Amino acid sequence: MRTLRNEIMGVSFDNLTLDEAIDRGAALAQGPGFSYVVTPNPEIVNMARQSKAYEDILNAAGLVLPDGIGVVYAAKILGCPLKERVPGIDFASGLLDRLEVSGGRLFLLGAKPGVAEQAAANLNARYPNLTICGVNDGYFKDAAPVVEKIKAAQADVVFVCLGAPKQEKWMAQYGPQTGAHLMVGLGGVLDVYAGNVKRAPEVWQKLGMEWLYRLLHQPSRIGRMAKLPLFLVDAKKASRKGKS
Ligand code: UDP
Repeated sequence: MRTLRNEIMGVSFDNLTLDEAIDRGAALAQGPGFSYVVTPNPEIVNMARQSKAYEDILNAAGLVLPDGIGVVYAAKILGCPLKERVPGIDFASGLLDRLEVSGGRLFLLGAKPGVAEQAAANLNARYPNLTICGVNDGYFKDAAPVVEKIKAAQADVVFVCLGAPKQEKWMAQYGPQTGAHLMVGLGGVLDVYAGNVKRAPEVWQKLGMEWLYRLLHQPSRIGRMAKLPLFLVDAKKASRKGKS
């Protein structure tokens, strides 16, 4: 069952708390059928504004979660506030807790060679009863062998970490062929689980400043982030247009 969704600049977000989103994700992971989760930040919403096909892929997801304080601000500006930010990595960690108990099988897909293996080793240390049934890096040419590998591993859940928009397109196109029940597009999360990229300390997260912490540690992201203030300006313009 779908909850009511709040449309932010063309993308319809589920209005859920983190805990509610984890409950929904855990239910979807049990099947039947296949669905995928997307975690758009302002950059992803902007990509969707440039491509109707990509916008459709986001809106067809089983769960659309606001992974950025920018989306939460835009929602407020547009007069359809969201309950809270739901960072992809927090959603993923909540799902891991559930999989450990339910015995669901997890496959890790993405990042540079060796990263998913390291992430799996670290996750197994943290979640001793979690079944990680396979891994694959994110720099493959053909999808078919990867689809077969996920199928053979009998994965219930796949964390797909290929960056946007590749991961969302991949989940929508190939996900149903893998036999998995749930795929989650998670960007650079495997780099964090592998210990290669550090997440912002909790106080930065609580202040909604995780983006600034990431920028300070990866200054090369400045080009991507410079577009974010414009996103809020566009939201303001859209809100004025809506009122007039
Ligand atoms: N990546 C991949 N295959 C590709 C391109 C990127 O596996 O063809 C991986 C990359 O190694 C990184 C992740 O996708 O682990 C994208 O990370 P980024 O920080 O850009 O994502 P964000 O968290 O910002 O969405």
